[in-house]
Amino acid sequence: MTHITPPPAQSGSAPKRRPVESLQPSTGEVWRTFTPATPDEVVAAVAAARAAQPAWAAQPIGVRLHALRRFHELVFARRNEIAELISRETDKPVAEAMGTEVGTALDDARFLLKAVPTLAKAPWFASGSLAYARKRLRITHEPYGVLAVISPWNYPFMLACARLLPALASGNAVVFKPSELTPSTGELIQRLLIDAGVPRDVMALVQGDGVIGAALAGAEVDKVFFTGSVAAGRSVAMACASRLIPCGLELGGSDAAIVLAGANTAHAASGLAWGRFSNAGQTCVAPKRIFVEDGAYDAFVADITRVVTQLHTGPGSDDTSDVGAVIRPEFRATLEAQRDDAVARGATIAATASTTNADIFPPTVLLDVPDDARALREETFGPLMTVIRVRDADEAVARANASEFGLSASVWSRDAARAGAVAARLACGTVAINDVLCTAGIPELPHGGVKHSGFGSTHGIEGLRDCMRTKGIAADHFSGVRQAWWFGYSRAHRDGVDAFIRLAHSKRVTERIAAIGTVLRMLLFPSRPL
Ligand code: NAD
Repeated sequence: MTHITPPPAQSGSAPKRRPVESLQPSTGEVWRTFTPATPDEVVAAVAAARAAQPAWAAQPIGVRLHALRRFHELVFARRNEIAELISRETDKPVAEAMGTEVGTALDDARFLLKAVPTLAKAPWFASGSLAYARKRLRITHEPYGVLAVISPWNYPFMLACARLLPALASGNAVVFKPSELTPSTGELIQRLLIDAGVPRDVMALVQGDGVIGAALAGAEVDKVFFTGSVAAGRSVAMACASRLIPCGLELGGSDAAIVLAGANTAHAASGLAWGRFSNAGQTCVAPKRIFVEDGAYDAFVADITRVVTQLHTGPGSDDTSDVGAVIRPEFRATLEAQRDDAVARGATIAATASTTNADIFPPTVLLDVPDDARALREETFGPLMTVIRVRDADEAVARANASEFGLSASVWSRDAARAGAVAARLACGTVAINDVLCTAGIPELPHGGVKHSGFGSTHGIEGLRDCMRTKGIAADHFSGVRQAWWFGYSRAHRDGVDAFIRLAHSKRVTERIAAIGTVLRMLLFPSRPL
């Protein structure tokens, strides 16, 4: 039975079928429209995926790896076209789309080409437990079956690939719902995977908004991978809980960056400006709260001011633009409200980039932002940076960890030991030292959050394992030789078990040696074997 949970914002009767549009954010030009799926079509896509999945999983692993290799080749060959399409739908500069989206997806595919066969090997091994010394053990991984992948718009190519590639390579079928703000990128991903050799029903696509996302999360899938906002993530988790199926949630963030005294502030300012303002600041792992130790504060503010005032704003299609428009005008209004709220509460604007385009929210640096300001309490999803002076690293760590989010963080220092010690104290999923954003793209490194930033991983062997069920196998090759602890209990049996525990776990060698005779008696001459 299909269980559909509409998102809270969409309460009411039948979901509306508003067309899904590909729109260029910096001009507002709509250049493609899609008819969204209906909830019934979602159910049908899941059923078709269910029917197609066993044959896909039964293929030799080489067939799935061939599709992955072919996908890598196709993406590489068509990289400019892909980057231009992403840029057109999101307004991120083409160079950024090429590096952070196409490049990361290519890295993922290459990583998986090695990781999938490595995980599939599942070698036999021995147990360290004396009780199980006879056993040969093996840990295998099996596809879940049908996975739902629900993606956001901010990195529409790389975030979708980070879920789809390991899911498909490990033998699952997928029903993929891209964001309603980036439907053309979603469609292109499906086409590339089908062209690479993945059967259409194994790589199904449903277009639509949150209503369709909710229909998919509530359908008869085996696991849901959701990337997006906390509110929608919570409703996905509740839909999964009601069916007792697992989910992986990559949610929002209000990441901290900590600049320690003695850091190279020019380097930190250059990196943090890129981290905060690239993709027009719409990055889950962007450094949204920058804590600067007293000794570095003045130099950092001077450096970040210099960098920000030199940024070029303009449409992503212009190769000299650093920062384009946020994806929809209503998101700009939220940013303006967050900025104005901070200023009304006493914050000052240290720097803004210049812009002649009214649709572009200019990169802005706020100082002296009080803790109760919206810009510190909420996720700011746009080019708004807050810089906060702190006494020392202890205060920086305490304030960084005071957030309800815990996605990633960065630490900037010339002192590797000090930076490492600070990184270890941060309550989040990943930490970059003297760099930013990178932890979300490195193929070997699991990316994921703690607290309201979600749970589960993308990337790394952990991200691959998240697409599979784990099965433990214990094989006993002494068929016909009964286990000593099977039925037929007696006082002698109890003494034998006690002696066995002493033999296995006593710290005293003499006690272990003394136990051997009783253990052998239990093994060789059971008092009451059944
Ligand atoms: P969103 O939650 O509005 O939408 C994300 C996706 O979920 C879309 O496809 C949308 O249609 C769908 N959706 C919306 N409501 C749903 C519901 N009730 N049930 C099922 N699906 C639903 O988020 P967004 O605006 O697209 O993305 C921005 C948010 O995503 C930010 O908070 C950002 O931090 C977060 N994000 C997190 C990561 C990460 O790795 N942790 C990566 C990118 C973005």
